[in-house]
Amino acid sequence: MTIQERLDDILKDLSSAAEKSGRLLSDIHLMAVSKYHPYDEILSLFRCNQNLFGENKVQEVMEKFPSLRPEGMQLHLIGHLQSNKVKKIVPLVDAIDSVDSLKLAQKINEASLAIGKVTPILLQFNTSEEENKSGFEDERSLYEALDTISDLSNISVQGLMTLGPLHGGEKEIRTAFAHLKNLQDVCTMRYPQLCFKTLSMGMSSDFPLAIAEGATQIRIGTRLFGPREYK
Ligand SMILES: *Cc1c(COP(=O)(O)O)cnc(C)c1O
Repeated sequence: MTIQERLDDILKDLSSAAEKSGRLLSDIHLMAVSKYHPYDEILSLFRCNQNLFGENKVQEVMEKFPSLRPEGMQLHLIGHLQSNKVKKIVPLVDAIDSVDSLKLAQKINEASLAIGKVTPILLQFNTSEEENKSGFEDERSLYEALDTISDLSNISVQGLMTLGPLHGGEKEIRTAFAHLKNLQDVCTMRYPQLCFKTLSMGMSSDFPLAIAEGATQIRIGTRLFGPREYK
């Protein structure tokens, strides 16, 4: 299959999942997760009108992308970010979707202030209690962080992000996604001054479930680019 065919294939499944759940297609955005795939494949997909890309490593973003990306190409960091790499990544991406601690949010705020930028962020929440995953572990720590984050001028909260359980059936996956949706509703009420419109959840294997539970952004790697070759 060509990349255009893979994209069409996903878009078809995306729209039937939306229809089945009574959701508007325009409320669900497709992010192409391009980690481990070369820049020329990213460009091919961009030429098929796919604008939003996600990468999960700072080093890979620095090595792979030109300093000037084509007009309209959006790049988000979606992987765990270490504090000591914040200064490097903030100028290079349009948003950071994997903020998992208050300390990290504060560092991103500082680095953004230093270059006169406001960085959109998502707060990552661990909905599956799997230990190898990052993300806020409980509501209380998320709210404590948000209490402080709401005063920071150079980051702008856009919503929440999670990874579904890697080990688990449909029921566990749906429960995790429903949890994030519920958290979005609670946060929207608790923090009327902040925006929680983005709910980033669902990957190649579980995105129809994520759409059924309210995802507004799905993150697709394998089904667009094929399997990743880990070296
Ligand atoms: C790799 C990755 C994805 C995409 O996973 P696929 O199963 O290849 O679609 C989505 N989200 C995050 C955070 C990732 O690291």
